[in-house]
Amino acid sequence: MKGLHRRCAQCSVMLLVAWVLPSGCASTGTSAAGASFQDLPDDSRPRLVVYLVVDQLRGDLLERYSPAFTGGFRRLLDEGLSFTNALHGHSSTETAPGHAALSTGVHPARARIPSNAWREEGERVLNVIDYQERLVGLPDVPGASPRVLDRTGLADWLLEAQSDARVLSVSAKDRAAVLMAGRSKGDVYWFDALSGQFVTSTYYRSTNPSWLDRFNRETMPGFRADSVWASTVPPEFATLSAPDTASFEGDGVNTYFPHRYHRERIDPEADDFFLWFETTPMLDRATLDVVLMAMDGEGIGRRQGRTDFLSISFSQADRVGHSYGPLSREQMDTLLRLDKVLEDLFGLLDTRVGPGMWVVGLTGDHGVMTMPERAEGEGRRLTMEDRSTLEQGLSRVARESTGQGEALAGSLLGALGEFTFVGPAFTHRELLSGVPGDSLATLFQRNFTPGRAGGLLSAYGVEMWFAENVLDWNYSSFGTTHGSPFHYDRWVPLILMGPGIEKGRVEDPVQPLDLAPTLAGLAGIPYPGDLDGVPLVLRKD
Ligand SMILES: [Zn+2]
Repeated sequence: MKGLHRRCAQCSVMLLVAWVLPSGCASTGTSAAGASFQDLPDDSRPRLVVYLVVDQLRGDLLERYSPAFTGGFRRLLDEGLSFTNALHGHSSTETAPGHAALSTGVHPARARIPSNAWREEGERVLNVIDYQERLVGLPDVPGASPRVLDRTGLADWLLEAQSDARVLSVSAKDRAAVLMAGRSKGDVYWFDALSGQFVTSTYYRSTNPSWLDRFNRETMPGFRADSVWASTVPPEFATLSAPDTASFEGDGVNTYFPHRYHRERIDPEADDFFLWFETTPMLDRATLDVVLMAMDGEGIGRRQGRTDFLSISFSQADRVGHSYGPLSREQMDTLLRLDKVLEDLFGLLDTRVGPGMWVVGLTGDHGVMTMPERAEGEGRRLTMEDRSTLEQGLSRVARESTGQGEALAGSLLGALGEFTFVGPAFTHRELLSGVPGDSLATLFQRNFTPGRAGGLLSAYGVEMWFAENVLDWNYSSFGTTHGSPFHYDRWVPLILMGPGIEKGRVEDPVQPLDLAPTLAGLAGIPYPGDLDGVPLVLRKD
């Protein structure tokens, strides 16, 4: 806590540039900082607010690999303000709800994004996929939009304060790029592996910008040369990760470096290079390249006295993490490569936006469960046998139950208690009652979205998850996942860096969705007064 003052915004004069709100001191106004956006002098307004998300970045990983970082993570860890106890506050720790919370500053239930997919009015909805839209230039492919998002985000707040603000949101994943731009119609791009291109949707624009067409035509084919993924982990740091090969990684065969497209490709008859490329960390580099092209092409972050918005969600730690697991050599390599990507990003921001003219917040959309085999026997994988036992048991209860609706939900809830691999479970009635029985109930309440059935038993009036350290991952013997309400899936790093932010570490619990009002406040952008997040650091004016 060195160098930080734990005081409320209403408290007396601050001695230092930055300070932290005491817990329980929620923002009630529409402006985080003392000064409003309009009041801020031009030269104290950042030209660019940078919101970085690393998909599946568990809270322990940056510390673990810190000795090996020399680039952007090094700079964040050395110069930034790290919150070491940032825990997502919702139960369904998936990509879409995580990004929705980070973007909007409210829990997923209030943004109405309960999960990555749900059933609504009999239809299956895949978060941001929007059949009213098309990918620009690919008329046969459905587009994407934030129409499912029920709240505005930081990008929208900036546009409300400054209508000529530029919004740029890029990710390898559509849901990450779209949700981080809130409901705005900014420059929003993501990767389409089937076409091997970065794309946008007709929701945002009817034609591609010329720089994007040029990038897809001239730059993306160059990545075909990256048909070998070799480790960049220096030998002296290799023991920070698990050994390179393990039988429960990848497909059980291709478990070690170097990974080669020609050995690991899915369909030898087809040109499936970019499907393989999408499984490697090289796609994070391509994501940065798109950002650089967009910033130059659109002149983002260049205007004195104007503030623009940049979000990048780096997806590959998630894809690599699912296959090889946290602590794997592959995941360490992915984060070391991202360290270089961030170094290049920050260097570019210094030269093109200007030193001291940008502020950055970095966090993760969720963590991940260590594979049971790697966790020395702690936990186990959910099996097909478990699944059929559960289905048979619940079907019997449904058949024998005389009631429907709440009565059936209550019967199912009672039956779930008999399965040792089932964990927390609540009926919708319990979640709507407003009286959570424990903290897990609170996490589920913040996820539960009436009308959008995202969970296994949502259609029957019950929200549930499996027991702690039980891995629900395709009944597979390989890989791992996230999505639970447990600590390992909710814990992520949270780091701020920029002018006026004192470097240091804060161990007090915070929520990643605090970043939205925090970044808004640092740029003097007014934000809604009913957020679940609170500003962690306020600017001194
Ligand atoms: Zn994932």
